[in-house]
Amino acid sequence: MAADASPVVTAGAEPMDGGGPTRGLDADILDMTLQAIQEFADRHLPTDLVLRLDHEDECPVELIRKMCGDDLGIHLLFVPEQYGGMGGSSFDVCRVCEKMAAIDVGVATSVLATALGSDPIAVGATADQKKLWLTRLAEEGLLFAYGATEPEAGSDLGALKTTATPVEQDGRVVGYRLNGRKQWISNGGIADAYTILANAPGGPSWFVIERGADGFTQAKPEDKHGIRLSNTAALYLDDVQVELDALVGGVEGQGLLQAQQVFGYTRLMVAAFGLGAGWSALDRVIAYSTERIQAGGPLSEKQGYTHKLIVPHVARLEAARAYVEQTAERIDAGEGSLNTEGAIAKYLATEAGNTAAEAAIQGHGGYGYTREYLVEKIKRDVRITTIYEGTSEIMEMTIARDRWQEHLKTRGRYYHDRGDALEALDAASPGVGAGTAALGLHALAEVLEWCRTGRLTRQQHVLLRLGELIAYAECAEALSRRAVRAANGALSPKADPRFDAAGLAVLARVFARDTALRVAWGGVQFVRGAGGADDATLPELEAPLRTHDIVASQAGGLADMDAVADIVYGRSGGS
Ligand SMILES: Cc1cc2nc3c(=O)[nH]c(=O)nc-3n(C[C@H](O)[C@H](O)[C@H](O)COP(=O)(O)OP(=O)(O)OC[C@H]3O[C@@H](n4cnc5c(N)ncnc54)[C@H](O)[C@@H]3O)c2cc1C
Repeated sequence: MAADASPVVTAGAEPMDGGGPTRGLDADILDMTLQAIQEFADRHLPTDLVLRLDHEDECPVELIRKMCGDDLGIHLLFVPEQYGGMGGSSFDVCRVCEKMAAIDVGVATSVLATALGSDPIAVGATADQKKLWLTRLAEEGLLFAYGATEPEAGSDLGALKTTATPVEQDGRVVGYRLNGRKQWISNGGIADAYTILANAPGGPSWFVIERGADGFTQAKPEDKHGIRLSNTAALYLDDVQVELDALVGGVEGQGLLQAQQVFGYTRLMVAAFGLGAGWSALDRVIAYSTERIQAGGPLSEKQGYTHKLIVPHVARLEAARAYVEQTAERIDAGEGSLNTEGAIAKYLATEAGNTAAEAAIQGHGGYGYTREYLVEKIKRDVRITTIYEGTSEIMEMTIARDRWQEHLKTRGRYYHDRGDALEALDAASPGVGAGTAALGLHALAEVLEWCRTGRLTRQQHVLLRLGELIAYAECAEALSRRAVRAANGALSPKADPRFDAAGLAVLARVFARDTALRVAWGGVQFVRGAGGADDATLPELEAPLRTHDIVASQAGGLADMDAVADIVYGRSGGS
C-alpha cells in the first residue's frame, strides 16, 4: 500500500461524504494492500518487539509514521483521490482495519486516530480547508488526533467545557481563543495536527490546531490496561489563538452534527477492530488446541472444549462480520451515514471480539495467563473497542431508541415485515437458518409491542436490553442473507473469504438458534420483570412469541456445532 502504488488504484468518490455511491479500490488492489500491511508487520513488528513495547508502554512513533507515510501509505486510503489519496470505500477501510487490528489494536488505533482526526474536515470543511488539510495529509502523512472527550464530557459530549472565544478586530471576528482540557486523546502526544471540539458562541464547533501552537500542550502518555502501544494523552489549551479559518466549515455550531455524520463509518472501523482482534485470538487458540494433548488427545478433539471456547465465538464474530459488510456496502451505495447500523455493528463485533479473546485465554489454560502466548495482550487490547467511539451501553441506547421509533412509526410491523421477508428467503433458500432468524425477528416485534403497551421503555434497563436483542436479531438476519449470497456467488469479490457458502450456512443456523432463544427468553425476562405481564396475561405474552417453534428450532443444534468445529479444524465432514 505504498504511496507509489496509487497510480494503479482505480478508486471511487469520497468515502464519507454522504453523497453518491463509492466504488473504492479494485479487489486486487485491496488484496495487495492487505498483503503489504501483513508483510510490513512481519518485517517491522515481530512478536518479541510487540511484547517489549507493550511491557514498556512505548508507542512506536517512527513505525506509525512509516505506515502513514511513504513506506506503506495507509493514510491514503482515507483521503479522497482528488486530494491525492486512494479514496477507499467503507468496505475497503473495514478490511484494512480488521487486518491492522489482527496485527495490533494499539497500532491500529494510532492509524485510526488520524482517520478520525481528519473526519471533521472531510465531512464539514470548506473547499479550501479540505484542499489544504487533506492534501497535506496525503502528501506529508500528517498524524492527526481527534479531540472530543473531556474529563467531564465523555458519552455526553454536550457537556463539554472547552471554549472558543471570538477574537475581534475593528468589530470583526478575526479568530478564536481556545481554553480547556481534552482527555484520553489517541495520538494526543504525537500528532502533527488536532481537531478540537470547543464551545463557540454559536455552539460546539471543530477547530484545527497544529502542534506547537502557543498555549497548546500535551500531557505524558496514560498508563493503560491495554493498547499500550498507542499513545493516549490529555491536551491542555490555555489561550490558544487560532485564525478564523481554523473553524471547520467556517460556521459555528456544526460540531456535533459533523461528528454524527461519520459515526456510522467510524463505528464500522472499530467494529472491524473487534473482528480483527477477536479472530487473532481465536486463530491462536485454534492452533494451540491442535497441539496441546490432554487426557490422551488434542484439545481440539474435545467437544466440551471446542463447543464452549471456539464455536460460539466463531459464530458471533461471523454474524458481526455479516452486519459490518452489509452496512459498509450500504454506506458505499450512498444510503447515508447509517449511524444505527454502525452502532449495531460496533456493538456486536466488539463484544464478540472481547469474549473471543477471553475464551482464547481460557483455551490456553495457564499459558494463556502468561504474556508469551499473546492472547492476554489481545484481551487487554480489544477491551478498548467496547469503550471508545461510544461505549457498548451507549450503542445499546442508540440502537434501541432508533428502532423503537421504527416500531412506533410502522405500528409494530417493522420487525414482523423483516421476519416475513426472511421467511420468504427461507422458503427459497432453506438451510441457512433464515426461518429461525425470522422467529427471532417476529418475537422481537412482540416484545417491543409489550413494551409499548406497558410503557416499559421508561425503565432504562429494559430499553438497553432491547438494544442488545435488536443487535442479535439483525445480525442473525444479516448472516443468513450473507450465506445465501455466498451460495449464489453474489458476495463482493472483496469479502473476507474465510468461510465458503456451506460454512456460512451452518454458522448462520448456529447463530440464529442462539438469537431466537435469546430474544424470546430475554423478552419474557424483561417484560415480566418490569411488570408488563401478570399471571393472567402471561399466555398472551408467550403465545405470540412462538416459544414452542423456537424450542423446536433447537433441533440439530449440536450436530451443527460439531460441523462448525470440523470446518474450523479443517476436518472432513464439516458441513
Ligand atoms: C485508550 C483510549 C483512547 C481514546 N481515544 C479518544 C480519542 O482519540 N478522542 C476522543 O475524543 N476520545 C477518546 N477516548 C475517550 C472515549 O471515547 C471515552 O472514554 C468514551 O466515550 C466514554 O466516555 P467516558 O470515559 O467519559 O465514560 P462515561 O461517559 O462517564 O461512562 C462511564 C460508564 O457509564 C456508562 N454510561 C454513560 N452514560 C450513560 C447513560 N446515559 N446511561 C447509562 N449508562 C451510561 C458508560 O457506558 C460507561 O460504562 C479514548 C479513551 C480511551 C480509554
